[in-house]
Amino acid sequence: MTRSARGILERLQAGVVLGAEGYVFELERRGYIKAGPYVPEVVLDFPEAVKELHREFLRAGSDVMVALTYYAHREKLRDVGRENDLEAMNRQAVRLANEVAREGDALVAGNICNTWAYDPDNAQETSRVVRAMYEEQLTWAVEEGIDFVISETNDYLGEALIALDVIKQLKLPAMVTLASVQPTRTRDGYDYVEACQILADHGADIVGLNCDRGPQTMLPLIERIRAAVDCYVAAQPVPYKTNAQYLTFESLQTSDGAQAFPIALEPFLHNRFEMAAFAREARALGVNYIGICCGGAPHYARAMAEALGRTVPSSKYSPAMELHPMLGAHVDEKDQVFLTDWQA
Ligand SMILES: [Zn+2]
Repeated sequence: MTRSARGILERLQAGVVLGAEGYVFELERRGYIKAGPYVPEVVLDFPEAVKELHREFLRAGSDVMVALTYYAHREKLRDVGRENDLEAMNRQAVRLANEVAREGDALVAGNICNTWAYDPDNAQETSRVVRAMYEEQLTWAVEEGIDFVISETNDYLGEALIALDVIKQLKLPAMVTLASVQPTRTRDGYDYVEACQILADHGADIVGLNCDRGPQTMLPLIERIRAAVDCYVAAQPVPYKTNAQYLTFESLQTSDGAQAFPIALEPFLHNRFEMAAFAREARALGVNYIGICCGGAPHYARAMAEALGRTVPSSKYSPAMELHPMLGAHVDEKDQVFLTDWQA
């Protein structure tokens, strides 16, 4: 059931689509989701908090409201003793996304992700379990009204192909993006570029990467994916300073050598100018769906939207440092911008 006049494929045909994610991380920071299990109980417990974040991303220029059904699958809800809330949580998440999308001209994406149930060594049996989870989630999502589906943070190509198949059976546009936790390959052994090619060959409308890597370590892979496929390409990095030594935000370490992921990552955050530079760079590479993942927040989305030449509702309150009482007269455009070496 498509609600919007212009669907995702028409919008991509016309130009870059801006996405914004990071709902789980942001709502954890705001005190509505428990770090660790990361189950979006907030959808039922504090629906207004979810709507507010949707609205902030909408005002910041996001073209897509992603229903907060990440980890709202049977396996995860069982872990936190809320399996009985499964259907209500999934339906409510899509409803909330729809309510806010209608405040602007945004699309609603259904959202499914890695399940932790897939096992390539026991593919036949576990595939049935995974398929059943995706089918129930997306059946509810379709009934509540979505424009397309984002299947994301896929560790296994095998699991991503199941997601793609379920989405295609529902006759919806499919965006399928891989996690890139490992240096070059999915957990079932496919080079990330090859895995995207296979997804494209199986009918994915949009392929690419999300999460795990910051712009610096995601863009080189994205450039190769762009060259390898004819379909649309998505890049949704995390706003953290990953580099050649620390490819992913999971591998970043605090000054005392402890793992910074997932709740001590603040020292590694990019600033808004760096994420704006990412958006420009991604567009120059031919990326069609440009977004942000865990760590994302409305100020990044606005900076990215403005970097792509847009004026968005929250641009009304974009910085005007010439009016700052201390910085005022001394501000020079270039002095406001602090870029790291990879952008220089
Ligand atoms: Zn993420």
